[in-house]
Amino acid sequence: MVATLERPPESAQLRTPRRELNLRIPGPTALPPAVRRALSEQMINHRGPEFAALLKEITEGTQRVFQTRNDVLFFPASGTGGLEAALVNSFSPGDRVLSVTIGWFGERWCEIAHAFGLDVDHLALPWGTAAEPDVIAQRLDESGPYKGVLITHNETSTGVTNPVASIAPIVRRAGALFLVDAVSSMGAVPIQTDDWDIDVAITGSQKAWMCPPGMTMLSVSERAWEANGRARLPRSYFDFKAARDYQRRGQTPYTPAVGIMYGLRASLRLMRKEGLERVFRRHHLVAERARRGVQALGMQLAADRRYASDTVTGVRAPNGIDLKAFLARLRTEHGVVLATGQEHWRDTHFRIGHLGHVRRADIDHALGAMGTLLAQMRG
Ligand code: PLP
Repeated sequence: MVATLERPPESAQLRTPRRELNLRIPGPTALPPAVRRALSEQMINHRGPEFAALLKEITEGTQRVFQTRNDVLFFPASGTGGLEAALVNSFSPGDRVLSVTIGWFGERWCEIAHAFGLDVDHLALPWGTAAEPDVIAQRLDESGPYKGVLITHNETSTGVTNPVASIAPIVRRAGALFLVDAVSSMGAVPIQTDDWDIDVAITGSQKAWMCPPGMTMLSVSERAWEANGRARLPRSYFDFKAARDYQRRGQTPYTPAVGIMYGLRASLRLMRKEGLERVFRRHHLVAERARRGVQALGMQLAADRRYASDTVTGVRAPNGIDLKAFLARLRTEHGVVLATGQEHWRDTHFRIGHLGHVRRADIDHALGAMGTLLAQMRG
Protein backbone atom coordinates (compact mmCIF):
# COMPACT_ATOMS: atom_id res chain seq x y z
CA MET A 1 0.00 0.00 0.00
CA VAL A 2 2.72 2.39 0.97
CA ALA A 3 6.48 2.64 0.64
CA THR A 4 8.98 4.44 2.83
CA LEU A 5 9.23 8.12 2.08
CA GLU A 6 12.63 9.40 1.10
CA ARG A 7 13.57 12.70 2.71
CA PRO A 8 11.69 15.30 0.60
CA PRO A 9 13.66 18.19 -0.89
CA GLU A 10 14.07 21.18 1.47
CA SER A 11 11.63 23.23 -0.54
CA ALA A 12 8.90 20.63 -0.59
CA GLN A 13 6.00 20.95 1.76
CA LEU A 14 4.42 17.73 2.84
CA ARG A 15 0.85 18.68 3.44
CA THR A 16 -0.51 15.26 4.30
CA PRO A 17 0.10 13.52 7.59
CA ARG A 18 0.89 10.25 5.72
CA ARG A 19 4.28 9.05 6.80
CA GLU A 20 4.95 7.07 3.66
CA LEU A 21 4.59 7.52 -0.06
CA ASN A 22 1.38 6.34 -1.66
CA LEU A 23 3.05 4.33 -4.41
CA ARG A 24 0.44 4.31 -7.15
CA ILE A 25 2.50 3.02 -10.06
CA PRO A 26 1.69 -0.25 -11.84
CA GLY A 27 4.66 -2.05 -10.33
CA PRO A 28 6.80 -2.44 -8.43
CA THR A 29 3.89 -2.36 -6.03
CA ALA A 30 4.03 -1.65 -2.30
CA LEU A 31 4.88 -4.53 0.00
CA PRO A 32 2.54 -5.60 2.81
CA PRO A 33 4.18 -5.82 6.26
CA ALA A 34 4.08 -9.65 6.22
CA VAL A 35 6.03 -9.69 2.96
CA ARG A 36 8.57 -7.19 4.26
CA ARG A 37 9.11 -9.37 7.31
CA ALA A 38 9.48 -12.48 5.16
CA LEU A 39 12.11 -10.78 3.03
CA SER A 40 14.38 -10.40 6.02
CA GLU A 41 14.44 -14.11 6.88
CA GLN A 42 17.78 -15.93 7.06
CA MET A 43 19.05 -17.76 3.95
CA ILE A 44 18.76 -21.53 3.59
CA ASN A 45 20.50 -24.20 1.57
CA HIS A 46 18.81 -24.10 -1.82
CA ARG A 47 19.66 -27.80 -2.24
CA GLY A 48 18.18 -28.74 1.12
CA PRO A 49 14.81 -29.80 2.55
CA GLU A 50 13.70 -26.33 3.71
CA PHE A 51 13.99 -25.05 0.17
CA ALA A 52 12.09 -28.06 -1.20
CA ALA A 53 9.24 -27.27 1.21
CA LEU A 54 9.29 -23.59 0.22
CA LEU A 55 9.24 -24.47 -3.48
CA LYS A 56 6.37 -26.91 -2.99
CA GLU A 57 4.26 -24.34 -1.14
CA ILE A 58 4.80 -21.53 -3.64
CA THR A 59 4.28 -23.87 -6.59
CA GLU A 60 0.90 -25.02 -5.28
CA GLY A 61 -0.09 -21.48 -4.26
CA THR A 62 0.88 -20.05 -7.63
CA GLN A 63 -1.02 -22.79 -9.44
CA ARG A 64 -4.13 -21.88 -7.43
CA VAL A 65 -3.87 -18.26 -8.49
CA PHE A 66 -3.20 -19.20 -12.12
CA GLN A 67 -6.17 -21.60 -11.83
CA THR A 68 -4.12 -24.31 -13.44
CA ARG A 69 -2.85 -27.83 -13.00
CA ASN A 70 -0.10 -27.14 -15.51
CA ASP A 71 3.52 -26.93 -14.44
CA VAL A 72 4.47 -23.56 -13.03
CA LEU A 73 8.13 -22.61 -13.43
CA PHE A 74 10.13 -19.95 -11.57
CA PHE A 75 13.08 -18.04 -13.01
CA PRO A 76 15.05 -15.21 -11.44
CA ALA A 77 14.28 -12.45 -13.97
CA SER A 78 11.88 -9.59 -14.44
CA GLY A 79 8.75 -10.14 -16.52
CA THR A 80 10.62 -9.54 -19.77
CA GLY A 81 12.79 -12.56 -19.02
CA GLY A 82 9.60 -14.59 -18.77
CA LEU A 83 8.40 -13.27 -22.13
CA GLU A 84 11.71 -14.26 -23.73
CA ALA A 85 11.63 -17.66 -22.02
CA ALA A 86 8.14 -18.34 -23.40
CA LEU A 87 9.31 -17.70 -26.96
CA VAL A 88 12.60 -19.59 -26.93
CA ASN A 89 10.97 -22.66 -25.40
CA SER A 90 8.07 -22.79 -27.83
CA PHE A 91 9.37 -22.05 -31.32
CA SER A 92 12.08 -22.65 -33.90
CA PRO A 93 13.82 -20.08 -36.12
CA GLY A 94 11.50 -18.90 -38.88
CA ASP A 95 8.30 -20.09 -37.20
CA ARG A 96 5.39 -17.85 -38.14
CA VAL A 97 3.66 -16.18 -35.19
CA LEU A 98 0.96 -13.56 -34.84
CA SER A 99 1.82 -10.78 -32.41
CA VAL A 100 -1.26 -8.81 -31.34
CA THR A 101 -0.37 -5.48 -29.74
CA ILE A 102 -2.38 -2.64 -28.23
CA GLY A 103 0.46 -0.73 -26.57
CA TRP A 104 4.06 -0.54 -25.50
CA PHE A 105 4.47 -3.87 -23.69
CA GLY A 106 2.96 -5.82 -26.56
CA GLU A 107 5.26 -4.03 -28.97
CA ARG A 108 8.29 -4.92 -26.87
CA TRP A 109 7.33 -8.60 -26.87
CA CYS A 110 6.92 -8.35 -30.64
CA GLU A 111 10.47 -6.97 -30.86
CA ILE A 112 11.81 -9.90 -28.83
CA ALA A 113 10.13 -12.31 -31.25
CA HIS A 114 11.86 -10.48 -34.13
CA ALA A 115 15.18 -10.55 -32.30
CA PHE A 116 15.01 -14.36 -32.05
CA GLY A 117 14.34 -14.76 -35.76
CA LEU A 118 10.65 -15.62 -35.73
CA ASP A 119 8.56 -14.75 -38.77
CA VAL A 120 6.34 -12.22 -37.02
CA ASP A 121 3.05 -10.95 -38.36
CA HIS A 122 2.36 -7.84 -36.30
CA LEU A 123 -1.30 -6.96 -35.77
CA ALA A 124 -0.76 -3.50 -34.29
CA LEU A 125 -3.97 -2.02 -32.95
CA PRO A 126 -4.34 1.57 -31.73
CA TRP A 127 -3.25 2.40 -28.20
CA GLY A 128 -6.24 2.74 -25.89
CA THR A 129 -8.28 0.09 -27.70
CA ALA A 130 -8.61 -3.63 -27.05
CA ALA A 131 -8.11 -6.48 -29.50
CA GLU A 132 -11.63 -7.50 -30.49
CA PRO A 133 -12.01 -11.27 -31.00
CA ASP A 134 -13.48 -10.71 -34.50
CA VAL A 135 -10.41 -8.82 -35.61
CA ILE A 136 -8.13 -11.63 -34.47
CA ALA A 137 -10.40 -14.27 -36.04
CA GLN A 138 -10.26 -12.43 -39.35
CA ARG A 139 -6.46 -12.18 -39.29
CA LEU A 140 -6.11 -15.85 -38.43
CA ASP A 141 -8.45 -16.82 -41.28
CA GLU A 142 -6.88 -14.55 -43.86
CA SER A 143 -3.19 -14.82 -43.03
CA GLY A 144 -2.75 -18.10 -41.14
CA PRO A 145 -1.56 -20.65 -40.38
CA TYR A 146 0.54 -19.54 -37.42
CA LYS A 147 2.56 -21.61 -34.99
CA GLY A 148 1.64 -19.25 -32.16
CA VAL A 149 -0.30 -16.20 -31.12
CA LEU A 150 1.26 -13.72 -28.64
CA ILE A 151 -0.98 -11.32 -26.76
CA THR A 152 -0.75 -8.99 -23.79
CA HIS A 153 -3.61 -9.67 -21.41
CA ASN A 154 -3.37 -6.37 -19.58
CA GLU A 155 -1.61 -3.59 -21.48
CA THR A 156 0.01 -1.61 -18.69
CA SER A 157 1.00 1.30 -20.94
CA THR A 158 -2.61 2.21 -21.72
CA GLY A 159 -4.72 0.55 -19.01
CA VAL A 160 -6.60 -1.82 -21.31
CA THR A 161 -7.42 -5.48 -20.65
CA ASN A 162 -7.85 -7.66 -23.70
CA PRO A 163 -10.81 -10.08 -23.70
CA VAL A 164 -8.57 -13.12 -23.57
CA ALA A 165 -11.38 -15.48 -22.51
CA SER A 166 -13.15 -14.78 -25.84
CA ILE A 167 -9.97 -14.78 -27.90
CA ALA A 168 -8.69 -18.11 -26.55
CA PRO A 169 -11.17 -20.41 -28.38
CA ILE A 170 -10.48 -18.62 -31.67
CA VAL A 171 -6.76 -19.22 -31.29
CA ARG A 172 -7.42 -22.83 -30.33
CA ARG A 173 -9.52 -23.42 -33.44
CA ALA A 174 -6.67 -22.03 -35.53
CA GLY A 175 -4.35 -24.63 -34.03
CA ALA A 176 -1.79 -22.12 -32.75
CA LEU A 177 -0.06 -22.07 -29.38
CA PHE A 178 -1.54 -19.34 -27.19
CA LEU A 179 1.04 -17.31 -25.26
CA VAL A 180 -0.32 -14.70 -22.87
CA ASP A 181 1.59 -11.91 -21.16
CA ALA A 182 -0.24 -11.73 -17.84
CA VAL A 183 2.56 -9.80 -16.14
CA SER A 184 0.31 -7.05 -14.79
CA SER A 185 -2.95 -8.97 -14.44
CA MET A 186 -2.33 -12.42 -12.95
CA GLY A 187 -3.24 -12.40 -9.27
CA ALA A 188 -5.40 -9.27 -9.59
CA VAL A 189 -8.04 -10.28 -12.11
CA PRO A 190 -9.48 -13.74 -12.81
CA ILE A 191 -7.51 -15.73 -15.37
CA GLN A 192 -8.67 -19.30 -15.88
CA THR A 193 -5.50 -20.67 -17.38
CA ASP A 194 -6.86 -24.20 -17.81
CA ASP A 195 -10.46 -23.39 -18.71
CA TRP A 196 -9.33 -20.83 -21.27
CA ASP A 197 -6.67 -23.26 -22.46
CA ILE A 198 -3.73 -20.86 -22.29
CA ASP A 199 -0.50 -22.61 -23.28
CA VAL A 200 2.00 -20.31 -21.62
CA ALA A 201 0.99 -17.56 -19.18
CA ILE A 202 3.70 -15.27 -17.84
CA THR A 203 3.75 -12.99 -14.81
CA GLY A 204 6.21 -11.08 -12.61
CA SER A 205 6.76 -10.90 -8.87
CA GLN A 206 6.58 -7.08 -8.57
CA LYS A 207 2.98 -6.73 -9.72
CA ALA A 208 -0.15 -8.21 -8.09
CA TRP A 209 2.08 -10.61 -6.15
CA MET A 210 3.17 -7.79 -3.80
CA CYS A 211 6.83 -8.85 -3.92
CA PRO A 212 10.01 -7.08 -5.03
CA PRO A 213 10.96 -7.30 -8.71
CA GLY A 214 13.21 -10.14 -9.82
CA MET A 215 11.22 -13.30 -10.34
CA THR A 216 9.06 -14.43 -13.25
CA MET A 217 6.52 -17.24 -13.02
CA LEU A 218 5.16 -19.12 -16.02
CA SER A 219 2.63 -21.88 -16.57
CA VAL A 220 3.26 -24.43 -19.32
CA SER A 221 0.48 -26.58 -20.83
CA GLU A 222 0.86 -30.13 -22.17
CA ARG A 223 0.58 -28.73 -25.68
CA ALA A 224 3.36 -26.25 -24.89
CA TRP A 225 5.54 -29.10 -23.60
CA GLU A 226 5.04 -30.95 -26.89
CA ALA A 227 6.03 -27.80 -28.77
CA ASN A 228 9.00 -27.47 -26.42
CA GLY A 229 10.26 -30.87 -27.53
CA ARG A 230 10.38 -29.62 -31.13
CA ALA A 231 11.44 -26.00 -30.45
CA ARG A 232 14.94 -25.22 -31.73
CA LEU A 233 15.44 -21.59 -30.75
CA PRO A 234 18.65 -21.24 -28.71
CA ARG A 235 18.14 -21.29 -24.95
CA SER A 236 20.23 -22.16 -21.95
CA TYR A 237 19.44 -20.32 -18.69
CA PHE A 238 15.73 -20.17 -19.51
CA ASP A 239 15.39 -23.84 -20.51
CA PHE A 240 11.93 -25.02 -19.44
CA LYS A 241 12.84 -28.68 -19.36
CA ALA A 242 15.80 -28.22 -17.05
CA ALA A 243 13.63 -26.06 -14.77
CA ARG A 244 10.88 -28.68 -14.64
CA ASP A 245 13.28 -31.56 -14.03
CA TYR A 246 14.91 -29.77 -11.13
CA GLN A 247 11.66 -28.45 -9.68
CA ARG A 248 10.32 -32.01 -9.54
CA ARG A 249 13.23 -32.77 -7.21
CA GLY A 250 12.54 -29.71 -5.07
CA GLN A 251 15.31 -27.62 -6.59
CA THR A 252 16.06 -25.21 -9.42
CA PRO A 253 18.89 -25.60 -11.96
CA TYR A 254 20.63 -22.41 -10.82
CA THR A 255 20.58 -20.41 -7.58
CA PRO A 256 16.96 -19.36 -7.05
CA ALA A 257 15.69 -15.96 -5.89
CA VAL A 258 15.25 -17.31 -2.36
CA GLY A 259 14.39 -13.93 -0.85
CA ILE A 260 11.63 -13.24 -3.35
CA MET A 261 10.34 -16.77 -2.82
CA TYR A 262 10.03 -16.04 0.91
CA GLY A 263 8.07 -12.94 -0.04
CA LEU A 264 5.88 -14.89 -2.43
CA ARG A 265 5.12 -17.49 0.21
CA ALA A 266 3.92 -14.70 2.50
CA SER A 267 1.89 -12.95 -0.20
CA LEU A 268 0.26 -16.22 -1.31
CA ARG A 269 -0.78 -16.85 2.27
CA LEU A 270 -2.30 -13.36 2.41
CA MET A 271 -4.17 -13.96 -0.85
CA ARG A 272 -5.43 -17.30 0.41
CA LYS A 273 -6.61 -15.76 3.66
CA GLU A 274 -8.44 -12.97 1.86
CA GLY A 275 -9.86 -15.42 -0.71
CA LEU A 276 -9.13 -15.18 -4.41
CA GLU A 277 -12.63 -14.01 -5.30
CA ARG A 278 -12.37 -11.23 -2.76
CA VAL A 279 -8.94 -10.25 -4.07
CA PHE A 280 -10.41 -9.90 -7.57
CA ARG A 281 -13.45 -8.03 -6.27
CA ARG A 282 -11.24 -5.60 -4.32
CA HIS A 283 -9.25 -4.86 -7.46
CA HIS A 284 -12.41 -4.23 -9.42
CA LEU A 285 -13.85 -1.90 -6.79
CA VAL A 286 -10.72 0.21 -6.37
CA ALA A 287 -10.36 0.41 -10.15
CA GLU A 288 -13.95 1.61 -10.52
CA ARG A 289 -13.31 4.16 -7.81
CA ALA A 290 -10.20 5.40 -9.60
CA ARG A 291 -12.01 5.65 -12.94
CA ARG A 292 -15.02 7.47 -11.53
CA GLY A 293 -12.84 9.75 -9.45
CA VAL A 294 -10.64 10.74 -12.38
CA GLN A 295 -13.68 11.53 -14.49
CA ALA A 296 -15.28 13.49 -11.65
CA LEU A 297 -12.15 15.65 -11.67
CA GLY A 298 -12.83 16.43 -15.33
CA MET A 299 -10.15 14.17 -16.78
CA GLN A 300 -10.54 11.58 -19.52
CA LEU A 301 -9.67 7.90 -19.40
CA ALA A 302 -7.20 6.68 -21.99
CA ALA A 303 -8.90 3.32 -22.32
CA ASP A 304 -12.02 2.22 -24.09
CA ARG A 305 -14.32 2.07 -21.02
CA ARG A 306 -15.54 -1.45 -21.89
CA TYR A 307 -12.03 -2.82 -21.56
CA ALA A 308 -10.64 -0.55 -18.84
CA SER A 309 -8.10 -2.38 -16.70
CA ASP A 310 -8.70 -3.26 -13.06
CA THR A 311 -4.97 -2.91 -12.29
CA VAL A 312 -3.94 0.36 -13.93
CA THR A 313 -5.84 3.43 -15.12
CA GLY A 314 -4.43 5.43 -18.01
CA VAL A 315 -5.46 9.09 -17.93
CA ARG A 316 -5.15 11.86 -20.52
CA ALA A 317 -3.27 14.82 -19.11
CA PRO A 318 -5.72 17.57 -18.20
CA ASN A 319 -5.79 20.48 -20.64
CA GLY A 320 -3.65 23.46 -19.74
CA ILE A 321 -1.76 21.62 -16.98
CA ASP A 322 1.99 21.07 -17.05
CA LEU A 323 2.02 17.29 -16.62
CA LYS A 324 5.60 17.07 -15.39
CA ALA A 325 4.97 19.68 -12.70
CA PHE A 326 1.67 18.04 -11.77
CA LEU A 327 3.30 14.65 -11.16
CA ALA A 328 6.27 16.18 -9.34
CA ARG A 329 4.06 18.23 -7.02
CA LEU A 330 1.83 15.24 -6.30
CA ARG A 331 4.90 13.46 -5.03
CA THR A 332 6.59 16.21 -3.09
CA GLU A 333 3.51 17.93 -1.66
CA HIS A 334 1.16 14.99 -1.20
CA GLY A 335 3.34 11.87 -1.18
CA VAL A 336 1.44 10.39 -4.14
CA VAL A 337 3.59 8.71 -6.78
CA LEU A 338 1.95 8.17 -10.16
CA ALA A 339 3.51 6.80 -13.35
CA THR A 340 4.14 8.80 -16.50
CA GLY A 341 2.83 7.72 -19.88
CA GLN A 342 5.12 5.64 -22.07
CA GLU A 343 6.72 6.29 -25.44
CA HIS A 344 4.57 8.67 -27.53
CA TRP A 345 2.18 8.99 -24.57
CA ARG A 346 4.91 10.22 -22.24
CA ASP A 347 3.93 13.89 -22.33
CA THR A 348 0.23 13.40 -22.85
CA HIS A 349 -0.84 10.73 -20.37
CA PHE A 350 -0.20 9.46 -16.88
CA ARG A 351 -1.10 6.23 -15.11
CA ILE A 352 -2.49 5.27 -11.72
CA GLY A 353 -1.53 1.82 -10.50
CA HIS A 354 -4.04 -0.06 -8.33
CA LEU A 355 -2.85 -3.61 -8.00
CA GLY A 356 -1.52 -5.79 -5.25
CA HIS A 357 -1.55 -4.24 -1.78
CA VAL A 358 -4.14 -1.55 -2.43
CA ARG A 359 -7.20 -0.38 -0.52
CA ARG A 360 -9.91 2.17 -1.13
CA ALA A 361 -8.19 4.68 1.15
CA ASP A 362 -5.10 4.70 -1.10
CA ILE A 363 -7.20 5.62 -4.11
CA ASP A 364 -9.17 8.24 -2.18
CA HIS A 365 -5.94 9.77 -0.93
CA ALA A 366 -4.53 9.95 -4.47
CA LEU A 367 -7.76 11.38 -5.90
CA GLY A 368 -7.99 13.94 -3.12
CA ALA A 369 -4.42 15.06 -3.79
CA MET A 370 -5.08 15.32 -7.53
CA GLY A 371 -8.22 17.38 -6.93
CA THR A 372 -6.44 19.80 -4.60
CA LEU A 373 -3.52 20.23 -6.94
CA LEU A 374 -5.63 20.66 -10.07
CA ALA A 375 -7.61 23.42 -8.36
CA GLN A 376 -4.36 25.15 -7.40
CA MET A 377 -2.74 24.75 -10.81
CA ARG A 378 -5.84 25.95 -12.65
CA GLY A 379 -5.75 28.86 -10.25
N1 PLP B 1 4.42 -6.92 -19.81
C1 PLP B 1 3.61 -6.13 -19.10
C2 PLP B 1 2.16 -6.15 -19.39
C3 PLP B 1 4.14 -5.29 -18.12
O1 PLP B 1 3.33 -4.51 -17.41
C4 PLP B 1 5.53 -5.29 -17.88
C5 PLP B 1 6.11 -4.41 -16.88
O2 PLP B 1 5.54 -3.44 -16.44
C6 PLP B 1 6.32 -6.13 -18.66
C7 PLP B 1 5.74 -6.94 -19.60
C8 PLP B 1 7.79 -6.16 -18.48
O3 PLP B 1 8.09 -6.62 -17.23
P1 PLP B 1 9.47 -6.26 -16.50
O4 PLP B 1 9.57 -4.77 -16.47
O5 PLP B 1 9.27 -6.90 -15.16
O6 PLP B 1 10.55 -6.89 -17.29
